[in-house]
Amino acid sequence: MENLVEQLEEVRQKCLNCNKCSLAQSRTNVVFSAGVPNHKIMLIGEAPGYWEDQKGEPFVGRAGQLLDRILNSVGLSRQKDIYICNTIKCRPPKNRNPLPEEKEACAEFLLAQINILRPKIILICGNIALNTMLPNERGITRARGRWFDGPFGSKMMPIFHPSYLLRNPSHEKGSPKWLMWQDIREIKKEFDKLNC
Ligand code: SF4
Repeated sequence: MENLVEQLEEVRQKCLNCNKCSLAQSRTNVVFSAGVPNHKIMLIGEAPGYWEDQKGEPFVGRAGQLLDRILNSVGLSRQKDIYICNTIKCRPPKNRNPLPEEKEACAEFLLAQINILRPKIILICGNIALNTMLPNERGITRARGRWFDGPFGSKMMPIFHPSYLLRNPSHEKGSPKWLMWQDIREIKKEFDKLNC
């Protein structure tokens, strides 16, 4: 584990000083990761929003609180179980979608995080992460809830982004929130099978 932490720290230091794309000019903080480095489960989000940029941590603010509630509902938490990062490490101005050249410039950091951790389960959270990890899939609504083969023998599941769930608060059967709760139970079943 120490080795993982050291390797990630090396990448983080490089990322903190990165000026490879224009987002370096407008960011407040680089947002590298949260949670626990481990070989079990990693969640890949989209790009930092306002609060992430302010605090230098992914999934803070209301979306982060909802993510924590979803994880906690099956006994998982960012404090003990899951490594969390984003596809893009600096906030795009006014929360616009990252440009292709920004995604390309930033890919080395996400690839390094995956390469170092080699997680058995990867959760792909939202459309930007989906486009990066599964570019042939046609949107999170169709792809969510299914297992896909991922790097290094991992299993990947796309899931809704909590920001989307905040905009769609219904809990009715078939609603995005209801589907999210089905997905997290399925993820927990797979997590419980892991022995690493
Ligand atoms: S978004 Fe990524 S590539 Fe662009 S400056 Fe930030 S860390 Fe570097």
